[in-house]
Amino acid sequence: MTSILVVAECDEQGEISQSTLQAIVAAKGLVDPVVTVVIAGEAPASASTLAVGKIVTLSSVDDADAGIYDQATAVISSLVESTSPEIVIFSKSDFGSVVGARMAFRSDSAFASDCIEISNAGDGVSVTRPVYGGSALAEFEIPTRPAIITLRAGVYEAGTETGLPLIEAFESDVNVERVVSVTGTVAEAREGVRLEDANFVVSGGRGLGGPEPFSVLADLANALGGAVGASRAACDAGWIDHSHQVGLTGKSVSPDVYIAIGISGASQHMAGCSSSRAIVAINKDGDSNIFKEARFGIVGDWEKALPSFLATVRELKA
Ligand SMILES: Cc1cc2nc3c(=O)[nH]c(=O)nc-3n(C[C@H](O)[C@H](O)[C@H](O)COP(=O)(O)OP(=O)(O)OC[C@H]3O[C@@H](n4cnc5c(N)ncnc54)[C@H](O)[C@@H]3O)c2cc1C
Repeated sequence: MTSILVVAECDEQGEISQSTLQAIVAAKGLVDPVVTVVIAGEAPASASTLAVGKIVTLSSVDDADAGIYDQATAVISSLVESTSPEIVIFSKSDFGSVVGARMAFRSDSAFASDCIEISNAGDGVSVTRPVYGGSALAEFEIPTRPAIITLRAGVYEAGTETGLPLIEAFESDVNVERVVSVTGTVAEAREGVRLEDANFVVSGGRGLGGPEPFSVLADLANALGGAVGASRAACDAGWIDHSHQVGLTGKSVSPDVYIAIGISGASQHMAGCSSSRAIVAINKDGDSNIFKEARFGIVGDWEKALPSFLATVRELKA
């Protein structure tokens, strides 16, 4: 038996996020899995049909914790202490990265971030994660309990199976002294699909030469039902907000198709997109590193290639 705690996150509609549904699939792929999903606050209606054995709600974690996660760290740590799961899986999000690392520190456990595969290894667990800025994949065996893992979005497909889980509330007596209070939160303005959940990502880099071309990239992303990404160079130049940055210090994405336009393919950028199913590059330098990773590519000026690319996509979609 492998006991796994999946720490859920909800999307803007208050429903269980796609990345959590993917983490459940990863958990259920382990040997003889016993999966419990933990939800901070009230469980959304859709949680009652999740295909897992049990759901634990944490009523003592509230919205005021947003961005700080002191309460979530303390309460989930206390749940882990009392239930002793072998594996705790978070999504690789701000929440998962912060709470997972803090919990691992508190419990002196191993923390493996940004994993793309989880499996059993003897009595322990084995994870695969990109290393050296995404240039290689390494497999790590974690013999200690619990193994605390963040899972990259998009590497497992969300399941469609439904179930009838037992729903329980976990009352924690942990008293968290608030040293910071959140006075307000501002939701990121965004149209369409979240970058991390998109099946198509159209990313632009310094080769675009300025902010204006990002509107053409947005047109292509909209035509494909995807999202716009960017290299750090483009974000640092102020051409697009940093929330679009893909890479080591940005977001990790695993879409079906990642279209990199005017991006050289530096290892720090590839760290965030190398697990995409197919990379398509448009770059005027045929020796650019991006072509080592790309399955398809156009060696040329994006200004010439992109309009016909967009027109063809629109034609095929019509
Ligand atoms: C600690 C650290 C963390 C980092 N984290 C990240 C990260 O998270 N994400 C990230 O992206 N970077 C990150 N970087 C920066 C990274 O090393 C690169 O500097 C950056 O990715 C380069 O961005 P770029 O490819 O847009 O620009 P460049 O490397 O300048 O490449 C521009 C490309 O555009 C092409 N080009 C130019 N004109 C055209 C045209 N008209 N048509 C087609 N192609 C054209 C060029 O041939 C070139 O290949 C990090 C660096 C460090 C040190």
